[in-house]
Amino acid sequence: MTSKVANDVPSDLNIPDNYVEHTLKTQKPLPPFRWDNIINDLNWLNVVILCFTPVVGFIGAYFVKLRWETFLFSIFYYYVTGLGITAGYHRLWAHRSYNASLPLQYFLAFAGAGAVEGSIKWWSRGHRAHHRYTDTDLDPYNAHKGFFYSHLGWMLLKPRRKPGVADVSDLSKNPVVRWQHKYYIQLILIAAFLIPTLIPWYFWNDAAGGYVYAGVLRLCFVHHSTFCVNSLAHWLGETPFDDKHTPRDHFATALATIGEGYHNFHHQFPMDYRNAIKWYQYDPTKWFIWTMQKVGLASHLKVFPENEVRKGQLTMELKKLKETQEKLAWPTNSDDLPVISWESYQEQAAKRPLVLISGFIHDVSTFIDEHPGGPHLIVKMIGKDATTAFFGGVYDHSNAAHNLLAMKRVGVLHGGMRQGLDDKMIPPSQRLKIARYNELSSPYNSSTAYSDGEGILG
Ligand SMILES: [Zn+2]
Ligand SMILES: [Zn+2]
Repeated sequence: MTSKVANDVPSDLNIPDNYVEHTLKTQKPLPPFRWDNIINDLNWLNVVILCFTPVVGFIGAYFVKLRWETFLFSIFYYYVTGLGITAGYHRLWAHRSYNASLPLQYFLAFAGAGAVEGSIKWWSRGHRAHHRYTDTDLDPYNAHKGFFYSHLGWMLLKPRRKPGVADVSDLSKNPVVRWQHKYYIQLILIAAFLIPTLIPWYFWNDAAGGYVYAGVLRLCFVHHSTFCVNSLAHWLGETPFDDKHTPRDHFATALATIGEGYHNFHHQFPMDYRNAIKWYQYDPTKWFIWTMQKVGLASHLKVFPENEVRKGQLTMELKKLKETQEKLAWPTNSDDLPVISWESYQEQAAKRPLVLISGFIHDVSTFIDEHPGGPHLIVKMIGKDATTAFFGGVYDHSNAAHNLLAMKRVGVLHGGMRQGLDDKMIPPSQRLKIARYNELSSPYNSSTAYSDGEGILG
């Protein structure tokens, strides 16, 4: 098979249905890292690259004074090369979240080379595996292996196993991706070091400053800023869209990563060109792509249906509310209450203060003296059916009163339940009770919130 044909066949076309389980079981990982085997276990090329920038950068900064023009240019160039990764490598090539015109593609491929994070093809292949096998051993930067591992360790060490299969045949066909792959070393030298040295030299005669600050130290910042997407964004913040995996949303991560910090959203909706969906959230990568569209250099910006995004949010909100609900005490379930005949009710009511309301028998002994309407109104109803009196006949009680009453249930009157359910039987606090689908009486019920109380009485 020629490489041309090999490139055209998606690499995941013929994988078995149980690929993940199968691979984890049959492919033995390398033995765990050991300090006494460090010489063999380290990826020395990456170690040298990742140590070069801080060491040379900080030594250089000690000897070379920082000029404000160079400082501003360094920040600008940090954004240029950072966007090469976030808007280019990540959102355009790894996720295909929009279409870019050729000039924009060449610009992003060049800017991305200036961030020295491998070629588009290599980077996207790992990133697609990260999304497909998040938090498993087939995820190259598996966050379960710790903060340091997902930030740097996975590059410093030789990988313990190959990342899970992820198809990049679309990228193999892309001429810009191929061009970048072919001239990658030359592009790195020009984009990461030559340009940031030449511009300050030509315009304000600061070649040394340009090299140290806009070249080397800027590169160090771009590295750790984008690495934070794999570490910090899987560790710090909230999970407003889903909590199945580690990705999280946090403003601080967004600040550090040119807007890639809304990572919980991103892992749920990876083909969306946005990471932040609210206008006030910090996502310069989104603003850049949007601007490129406005000037005609980008098109087909993908947005996940709003309705589905809101479903994810609602699910997480309901989950939180359910936790709150579970911390509260609730009335005894009618299934767990004894069923008592009218005669038995009469007998027992002679010995203790029992009141029947809506088919439930309540022991009101602890409440008689506290009754706001006076004890006499309760005493009058002992051994009787006070349903009408409670629900407006004498006084239309508050929802809080109804909730409290339900806490005093001690039995169910035999035959006292009406056909069907009504508001008199379900205390207001339980009408919108949140239940898991398997706690509901019908497995086909489409909603997890119910108002008819079937789950309580069924
Ligand atoms: Zn991630
Ligand atoms: Zn991604």
